[in-house]
Amino acid sequence: MIVDLRSDTVTRPTPQMRQAIAEAAVGDDVYGEDTTVTELETRVASMLGKEAGLFVPSGTMGNQLAIRVHVSPGDEVIIEKQGHSFLYESGALAGISGAQAHPVDGERGILTAAQVKSAIRPRAYHYARTRLVVLENTSNAGGGTIYSVERTNEIADVCREHSLPLHLDGARLWNAHVASGVSLSALCARADSVSVCLSKGLGAPVGSVLVGARAFITEAHRLRKMFGGGMRQVGLLAAAGLYALDHHLERLAEDHANLKRLASGLAHIPGLECEPSAFPTNIAYVKTSKISAADLSARLRAKEVWANPTGPNELRVVTHLDVNTDAIDEAIVRFSAAMS
Ligand SMILES: *Cc1c(COP(=O)(O)O)cnc(C)c1O
Repeated sequence: MIVDLRSDTVTRPTPQMRQAIAEAAVGDDVYGEDTTVTELETRVASMLGKEAGLFVPSGTMGNQLAIRVHVSPGDEVIIEKQGHSFLYESGALAGISGAQAHPVDGERGILTAAQVKSAIRPRAYHYARTRLVVLENTSNAGGGTIYSVERTNEIADVCREHSLPLHLDGARLWNAHVASGVSLSALCARADSVSVCLSKGLGAPVGSVLVGARAFITEAHRLRKMFGGGMRQVGLLAAAGLYALDHHLERLAEDHANLKRLASGLAHIPGLECEPSAFPTNIAYVKTSKISAADLSARLRAKEVWANPTGPNELRVVTHLDVNTDAIDEAIVRFSAAMS
């Protein structure tokens, strides 16, 4: 049995999800005629408390469409220094929007309102214009860490004082909701735009939804066509998203429990360090002091446990729909064998 802990993107559609895909009503979505896509867009917008939604092929497109709507070339975007839209989207911020990042060093991916405030450029013509703040909830690089509503709202207050829109990269907002018990709409109430992924913990094969005010989505819709993201009978994919929202949202609690179980197990293995309480959702980072992360990853690979190094002495593990509790226990045994 392979235990794949690399990412929550590796899940395969379940038989029931494949059934939902097979039975989906479809139409040409470029003509606005795919009722399944429309249902998904409306449903996600309503869950997140926004006026409208737009189905997009990836989280990257959701984030970059939002950024492109919010900024102009030469503008500056405040973002945490390991933020996905800055670090892992192939330079799209500059390449597509002509904007520059103002990366800020958060605490495990999480910024404070004071940090955001002090990153805003003075209004003098030799500076770039600060035009957008991007937050990520949960923070991927931070180890699945959560922005509380209070923290988000404090940052939103700073944004309002300076007339800056706030974009939320909510690829794993679902995990923040399930782990904190706070409603999705409360978590993003003050964000002007939010992008959520269906293809991470929710287990759909493809797709994200970008939500915001109607006028924002109208502009994002035009740009999606420009980006080559206008899709035809894409209700097949939207159906997987709807199925995931019905059946895979609340079960994220199992992934969180499995992550705690895994982190606790690994913490007991000599040479490994992992503090379970530091990882509130489905992502953890493991420190390896005796051997390099590359060595450990290779030894694990030989034992059919897949986990990628994220630094010379650090490895990332992620729980998801395709690893159950037995697989977690098995992974702990194999980690222990790899270290001995
Ligand atoms: C995965 C991810 C994205 C991008 O999603 P893709 O569908 O892979 O383009 C954006 N933000 C965060 C935090 C992510 O983890």
